[in-house]
Amino acid sequence: MLDSIRIVLVNTSHTGNIGSVARAMKTMGLSELTLVDPVNAPDSHASALAAGATDILANASTVDTLQEAVADCELVLATSARNRTLDWPLLGPRDAAAKVLAEAPKHKVALVFGRENNGLTNEELQLSQYHLHIPTNPDYGSLNLAMAVQTVCYELRMQFLEAEENAQRYSHSGEVADYPRGEQLEQFYQHLEQTLYDTGFIVKQHPGQVMTKLRRLFNRARPEESEINILRGILASIGKDRG
Ligand code: SAH
Repeated sequence: MLDSIRIVLVNTSHTGNIGSVARAMKTMGLSELTLVDPVNAPDSHASALAAGATDILANASTVDTLQEAVADCELVLATSARNRTLDWPLLGPRDAAAKVLAEAPKHKVALVFGRENNGLTNEELQLSQYHLHIPTNPDYGSLNLAMAVQTVCYELRMQFLEAEENAQRYSHSGEVADYPRGEQLEQFYQHLEQTLYDTGFIVKQHPGQVMTKLRRLFNRARPEESEINILRGILASIGKDRG
């Protein structure tokens, strides 16, 4: 899913930054890079800074305008080092990542980054549905281009991994254990209580808090159905023993 999210760099001046962006993307699991009218095409300096991510540079496409770069995208987010560049819907990296991940399975998504010296023009910013600002220091908020890409891609990756983990943890594909129904649990507690009376562990006239504490203990452990059956078997064997 992450590797279908497109990173778009507009009119980048330094090829080293293009290489660093490729590296930032690959480390976070993204791979689709589009360059809009780069001042210089990726060169050996770009490759050096891309390190193990030269494949992303090799596969990058180059187009003349931002319109072309986002022509096939249903969702476009344009990043800005300035807060409230235009009166446009504005997201932080976290909300932006949530939005992107929610739509990416269905829609083509582009994240657009601007020029090192003066960012994106108002016309370019208006090609997006949302603006994305990383809430940096208001006195000096302009990140290096590749570091801005890294920050946004990191947030995407964290949320993607979290969603994957949750899907596994709470999956309904047979991984959820069989738990006893309420009435089965209740039968177990009654059986336990009766056994504890029979053995004399609980005195009927002074039952105290034992059953409450045992209920709390078992409910905390959340026994599975098969475990409740074992416990009931143990109680039955105690009953048999005592004739
Ligand atoms: N002087 C320019 C700074 C551009 S920094 C300006 O004021 O717009 C180069 C690019 O890095 C920006 O166009 C943007 O894509 C990204 N960037 C830098 N800092 C950012 C931040 N705090 N939030 C979001 N994107 C940022």
